[in-house]
Amino acid sequence: MQEKIKMQTPLVEMDGDEMTRVIWKMIKDILILPYVDLKTEYYDLGLENREKTKDQVTFDSAEATKKYGVAVKCATITPNAQRVDEYNLTQMWKSPNGTIRAILDGTVFRTPVVVKGITPFIPTWTKPITIARHAYGDVYKNTELKVKAGAKAELLVTNQDGSTETALIHDFNSDGIIQGIHNTDNSIANFARSCFNYALDCKKDLWFSSKDTISKTYDHHFKDIFAEIFENEYKQKFDAAGIEYFYTLIDDAVARVVRSQGGYIWACKNYDGDVMSDMVATAFGSLAMMTSVLVSPDGVYEYEAAHGTVQRHYYKHLKGEETSTNSIATIFAWSGALRKRAILDNNEELKDFADRLEQASIKTIEDGIMTKDLYALSNLENKKAVNTEEFLVEISKRL
Ligand code: NAP
Ligand code: MG
Repeated sequence: MQEKIKMQTPLVEMDGDEMTRVIWKMIKDILILPYVDLKTEYYDLGLENREKTKDQVTFDSAEATKKYGVAVKCATITPNAQRVDEYNLTQMWKSPNGTIRAILDGTVFRTPVVVKGITPFIPTWTKPITIARHAYGDVYKNTELKVKAGAKAELLVTNQDGSTETALIHDFNSDGIIQGIHNTDNSIANFARSCFNYALDCKKDLWFSSKDTISKTYDHHFKDIFAEIFENEYKQKFDAAGIEYFYTLIDDAVARVVRSQGGYIWACKNYDGDVMSDMVATAFGSLAMMTSVLVSPDGVYEYEAAHGTVQRHYYKHLKGEETSTNSIATIFAWSGALRKRAILDNNEELKDFADRLEQASIKTIEDGIMTKDLYALSNLENKKAVNTEEFLVEISKRL
């Protein structure tokens, strides 16, 4: 019996709901605890405990993440009216991801796990494309009005000293619509720094795109803030790492992305990121293979799967029926968090374990052993569908 790998600093562990909570425990029992002397500070973000603590546990887990620097999170239910009944909630608690993101002020990076035998819908994409979405402002915090024919619509800004500025939007000679949107320099700068840090971290080129030729003040300001921060704080580090930052128009970016092999980070404004992340995720094949990490501008990391709690599978599981739920994205959340912890603590053994856990997971699928969602997509000839637990056991055999 080999000695278990030691950890110096705890990971912040955020447990969650439904099928992903079931998988969470299996991953720990089958793939991690036999090899690692796991140190975590545990927060139960399952909906029952959020109710019991009046959601305090979510805030505490985010504060702990700030303190320790690295967290791993299980998918959680965002309550809606139906969940309020189902779980007898006293309040429709907010999305934990929203709460954590607001406290860490971070950017979410989503990256697919690419395996042989599952060809993306764009077959030239042999390397993953990471989408970074700015998660504040623009059309997501808009103010909209319908206006009548004959109306004159203007922007009005009242400064702190009482002085005002106005700009004409449109003189309407028929009925129409207007919209006001905003962003802040602070939020844009935080977004930029999260992107530059993450690019350095994974040694990948960073692309950023917007529509500055049309939006000469608004989108151009994003471009300028990125350029200034890059020149002053990151250019030398990028040169040393052998990676590149480049800005291009959103439509040019789309054309380049489609023709590319992948392997870079694409930073998008809020709306572009919303649309492009679904496009990229779908093109790579499966939501169950999409990983996600929240990176704060000061370098705090929270790893998770991009998918939800896989509710339909959970109800089957509760009825005692067999499930075939794909655990890859959740495994990679663990390996990502363990690797980051290892790098911060200079723990070679732990880093090596994180690498081997990912390799064993990919090898299992490439050997033809996979859950049903991938079975439907795979073009391997010797493929075999297994259940939730068998899949993890097969990975452990290769670990
Ligand atoms: P979901 O859990 O992502 O699942 C949607 C469907 O995608 C599943 O029914 C399943 O399809 C397939 N799928 C997703 N992950 C899979 C996996 N690992 N293995 C196999 N199939 C997988 O989304 P949802 O059903 O819309 O949401 C359920 C709950 O998750 C909601 O309460 C929502 O609030 C929450 N949620 C949480 C997060 C988060 O914590 N980050 C994100 C999104 C949603 P089939 O049923 O066809 O097999
Ligand atoms: Mg969306």
